[in-house]
Amino acid sequence: ETAYYEDRFVEPGARVVPLEDRGHQFGDGIYEVIRVYNGVPFLLDEHLARLLVSADAIDLELPYSIAEIRAICEKSLERAQLPDAEIYIQVTRGSSPRAHAFPENVRGILMVAVKHARTVSEEKRQSGVPVMSIEENRWKFCYIKSLNLLPNVLAKEKAKNYQCHEAVYVDEGIVKEGSSSNIFAVKDGVMYTYPPEPSILHGISRQFVIDLALRLGMEVKEEKKSLSFFKSADELFLTSTTMEILAVSSFDDTDYSERRPITRKLAAEFRAEVERRTT
Ligand code: PLP
Repeated sequence: ETAYYEDRFVEPGARVVPLEDRGHQFGDGIYEVIRVYNGVPFLLDEHLARLLVSADAIDLELPYSIAEIRAICEKSLERAQLPDAEIYIQVTRGSSPRAHAFPENVRGILMVAVKHARTVSEEKRQSGVPVMSIEENRWKFCYIKSLNLLPNVLAKEKAKNYQCHEAVYVDEGIVKEGSSSNIFAVKDGVMYTYPPEPSILHGISRQFVIDLALRLGMEVKEEKKSLSFFKSADELFLTSTTMEILAVSSFDDTDYSERRPITRKLAAEFRAEVERRTT
């Protein structure tokens, strides 16, 4: 494992974050999580592009260019020598005496960490995972991958207490996304997911899976669909960098059949594409 903080490599467990880093005092920062397969970061350019979108959205000037951040990620991977890893990138608005408004002439702080990948067990991949609905309680700009994750943390903890893998936000009856994933429904051979509006995170895996499905000749509709529509669907699955494509076995009290032909096909294609791009 490796860690980079501000301008240097540090020990992964090092205590280097200043007391007044705005990241932990205000959640004033942004992040990305990138999966590494066979030592190769997957969809790195897409993640770095989204980092820039998040930075622009909160008027945060990145302390390094995207090219420099890419180079730091690559250097970190070289040092870590982990084939199956996760890269965590975080940028905060720097350290300065606590006051809400932006500090002047303060440089943002970059952190990059490479850790072992968190993976979903093969058993869960086969059986699918239970998920539950939860009322939307976040702000309107969830397309920004910001450090303010308290609602998501509380949602995931609630899911865990209900023996669920994920809590899925429902807003006035419309299914949006999970606390750390996007969600798709498959009905009569057509795939549905919430449109890429500012109120959800535009998942990199979500887009990758849409493109994959289109290449396979499937129909994909980015539309707002109700909870009852989702419950009447043939298959549901989650997508995220760490979950990849993960079948849903139940949503609240609705069960989905063990036969999930489309989810299986997409998941197999996903893995094949990963192999193609990382070996
Ligand atoms: N939605 C939310 C709220 C997330 O936090 C995440 C990832 O952590 C996702 C969706 C999935 O995004 P990605 O596919 O880019 O990992």
